[in-house]
Amino acid sequence: MSTPFLKLSEADVVAWITARVRAELKEGTGMGELELAVEQATRECRRQALEALVKEQAAAQPLVCPVCEQRLNVEAYARARDVNSSLGPVSFRRAYGFCVPCGQHFYPADVALGLHPRATGSPRVQELWTYSLPSPTTLGSGARTKTPMA
Ligand SMILES: [Zn+2]
Repeated sequence: MSTPFLKLSEADVVAWITARVRAELKEGTGMGELELAVEQATRECRRQALEALVKEQAAAQPLVCPVCEQRLNVEAYARARDVNSSLGPVSFRRAYGFCVPCGQHFYPADVALGLHPRATGSPRVQELWTYSLPSPTTLGSGARTKTPMA
């Protein structure tokens, strides 16, 4: 794939982000607000970059069984899937097929991307959920929350 944008330097990206945030800046903005403004200014770009990469990966996936590697019988070529990522919602399309030897249906792209069949969250989002939930050992022990009580 041609990548003419790689000629953009990191300094160019920094200048773009800085100018974009500065355009919305109020006088006396604190560092916390600046952090949030930089986060918001770049979030949609990062989400779109993730979506483009996910679409490329899904499109590049051969329609073969992830278990026995036999060619799948095509059931559909472009079934849509929406996944909530840590950067926002990502949509892509992928092929769906049936493996005769295994007797199962598969979305090879979902398997390659590490997506659980019915999960609405990306692997990263699921990881974040896991770490934000109280562990079973702390439940019921009087220490249910990790945040200090007021
Ligand atoms: Zn198979």
